[in-house]
Parts: sequence; C-alpha cells; structure tokens
Amino acid sequence: MIGIIGGTGFYNVDLFGESEQIDIQTPYGDVSMMKGKYAGEDVYFLPRHGFTHGRLAYQVTHHANIDAFRQLGVKRILATVAAGGISEHCNAGDLVLLDQFINFHTTHYTFGKMSLDMTEPYCAQLRGVLIEQAKRLGYPMHETGTYLSFDGPRYETAAEIRAFRTLGADVVGMTNAPEAILAREAGICYSAVVIVTNKAAGLSSDEPDLKAHSNMVKQNSEKVQKLLCAVVEALPQQRTCRCQEWYDRAVAARA
Ligand SMILES: [Zn+2]
Repeated sequence: MIGIIGGTGFYNVDLFGESEQIDIQTPYGDVSMMKGKYAGEDVYFLPRHGFTHGRLAYQVTHHANIDAFRQLGVKRILATVAAGGISEHCNAGDLVLLDQFINFHTTHYTFGKMSLDMTEPYCAQLRGVLIEQAKRLGYPMHETGTYLSFDGPRYETAAEIRAFRTLGADVVGMTNAPEAILAREAGICYSAVVIVTNKAAGLSSDEPDLKAHSNMVKQNSEKVQKLLCAVVEALPQQRTCRCQEWYDRAVAARA
C-alpha cells in the first residue's frame, strides 16, 4: 500500500488502469483521493492542491491529508513538488530529490505532543529506491537538495532568495516542510521529488507565474510518473529505514 501526493501541475495519475474516488473524513476536514492498483499494490493518489488546483499553498489542509493516509494504513508516501530553483545547478525542468528542508513557516505544523528526530527528514529507503530507479531509467536527477519552505501565498523577494541561498537552500516552495513533518509524526515514510519550475525571484528575468509552473510540471509529468511506477514496483515490502523507530521513540517519550 502506497500513497502518492501530486504537487502543482500533477493532478492525476495515468498509472492506474481503473480507479475510484474515495472520500475520507478526518478531524481536520474531508479529503478526496483516487484509489487504484499498480503492480498488485493498492495506490492512493492525492493532488495536494485539489483536483483542479482549487487550493493555494496556504489553504492546503496538510493535517487532513496526512491523517487520511494514516487512517487508510498507508505507511509510505511518494510526493511530487513544484519549486523554484535557488542554487546554480537547479534549473527549470530539473528533478531534485530532497534530503533536507529549512522550515520558515510561521504556522505550527504538528499533531501535537510529539518531539520527533528530524535529522534526516526524508525516508532513506524511499530515497535510495528513487535514486536507483532514476538511474535505471536514465533520468538525470539531483540526488540531494535542501528545500526552503515558507508560508506564501505571495512569492519571495529577491533579497529573501539571496538570503535563502546563503543559508544553503537549493529550491524554494510553500508546502514541503509541513508535509514531511506531519508524515513523520504519523509514522509514515515520506520522500519528495521536486520538479524545478523556474529560477526563483531575482535570479532570472522570468516572472513567477502559476500557469507557467504547471506547464513545466506537465512537460515532466510522464517522466515523473514512470519514475514513481518503477519505485512502486521495486520497493521491498519490508521497511528497512528508521522512520518507524523515530516515531515509536517519540511516542514512548510522551508516555
Ligand atoms: Zn522510512
């Protein structure tokens, strides 16, 4: 059983032969997602911003989304994320597999009463399989990347981007830290592949534009879907990472 969260421009998956919409009630709001099967595995697909990008980043109900996966018993989530490129090597159309984030959100994203180890915020096993399958398919992908996550909904200033670069951020966006934090708090393995949509503010003459960002993702969507399919097929059933251990330790500490 595996969950997929699609970012901007990634509103459906063709990997299911047949799928059905399911609605899940959570204490944080209702969540709709698609349920299908791939390679004998139950796969749940959730477009982060809704099926038609009806929700801007600050309106995304991260608590509800992750809680819905938790209720379904999903233990692994693969996410796609649209983000602006900050570091020199992160350019429009590039794929970046995140290994770190910097959280600049002013909202507290937590299910409460948990202090989790976030030294490695993304699941090592999922990351390993993503790297291995991208190589097998011949898709260039930056194997590490630091995501700077902030509230929005406005885009960044040029000075903020200069500061974020100094801090070591490779890409910038508005959703990924909350999702990674809440997944860890739910004991779910989580990994995220960024599709770089543009150069961030002040680094090029292009102005940020949601439609252009969606189009850049759509151009890369087939590639990313093939990558996700390959990962679903290749993932061993056994979890060999430390995500569950970190979760269990936090639960034990609060008892
Ligand atoms: Zn894990």
